[in-house]
Amino acid sequence: MLSRHYHYRQRLKAKLESYRAGPCERCGSKRERRELAHAAPTPLSGRGRGLSQRYHDLRKHPLCYARLCLKCHGLVDARAAVFVRVEEPDWA
Ligand SMILES: [Zn+2]
Repeated sequence: MLSRHYHYRQRLKAKLESYRAGPCERCGSKRERRELAHAAPTPLSGRGRGLSQRYHDLRKHPLCYARLCLKCHGLVDARAAVFVRVEEPDWA
């Protein structure tokens, strides 16, 4: 039997996937794989990245996250590019 916890996790996963489905917020790409990246540090940066922690951190600090494609995520992490938010994110 599937537990309630399982269903809860499935729901969070589906939500996160729907947020990740839009275009990259930096270059607009829908071809590269997109990820929800930290655009600014939150208390969750680094350790403690469990599914529900991640989800609640995203809802609590919506502007600290950015949907970036793999390419932009790499550039921003390497400080070779800067992410500037121009629109409210889907999850705000
Ligand atoms: Zn991109």
